[in-house]
Amino acid sequence: MLPSTTDVWPAGHRAAVVLSFDVDGEYGEVNHRGPDDWYWRSNAQYDQAAGIWRILRLLDDFDVSATFCWVGKVAEERPDIVKTAHDAGHEISTHGWDHRYFSEMTIDEQRDDLVRTRTLLEQITGERPVGHKTPGWRFNEQTVPLLQELGFRWNMDYASNDIPFLMAPDQTREPIVQLPPSRLWDDYSYFVDPIAPPRHAFEMWRDDIDVLRSEGKLMCLTFHPWVTGRPAPSRALSMFLDYVISLGDVWIARADHVAQWWLDRLKSQGA
Ligand SMILES: [Zn+2]
Repeated sequence: MLPSTTDVWPAGHRAAVVLSFDVDGEYGEVNHRGPDDWYWRSNAQYDQAAGIWRILRLLDDFDVSATFCWVGKVAEERPDIVKTAHDAGHEISTHGWDHRYFSEMTIDEQRDDLVRTRTLLEQITGERPVGHKTPGWRFNEQTVPLLQELGFRWNMDYASNDIPFLMAPDQTREPIVQLPPSRLWDDYSYFVDPIAPPRHAFEMWRDDIDVLRSEGKLMCLTFHPWVTGRPAPSRALSMFLDYVISLGDVWIARADHVAQWWLDRLKSQGA
């Protein structure tokens, strides 16, 4: 018999959706394209100047909570925005100090990067982040054991499933709940190199949630304020939220709440 994944979410819910926003500032593009590419730097500076404010208003309009994955240097420059997002009920998690790829770092550099970013975010919000998404999803086999060592609870790096799963390469420590992303649920795939009308992104995500809802699964979307915070792309997100909310039985939740739910569920099953 095929394994069933129905009845896994809180009562009354047939699927779960996590909205995650990577606050890269200009550092994602600087790291990717170099510091001299002012065309892309200025595009990405839209992040804190305008995009994140449109996103925060949109989430407030829909009364949903999201997860923000913050680059340390961006938080250092504008701690007030981190605080605003935290005070609005959103989760704050780590997304690298300056968006360098973890795959190009030694294990000690990865550890320093995680600790430095987490410490700063904790100082700003008073709450220790429990989640991490690696910049550009360029992690390596050392990243999850490090997250275990540092006491993180969830990671959104491995796109290898559409239901949470546990990873414990270090068997002596608590596992990490892996919340799988997808390149099809990343706004870069629609609005950065190719430019798609917002309806195309919405239709893809609507069809995805329809399938996942019939199977009882999880959809973790990745947005960037400088991308989806632009006027038309923001409509893709609002059309998607309109649709998901109209279904009436999809759990829109922060990543930390989904991870905790998953751990509690496994515990109650004696796993
Ligand atoms: Zn990023």
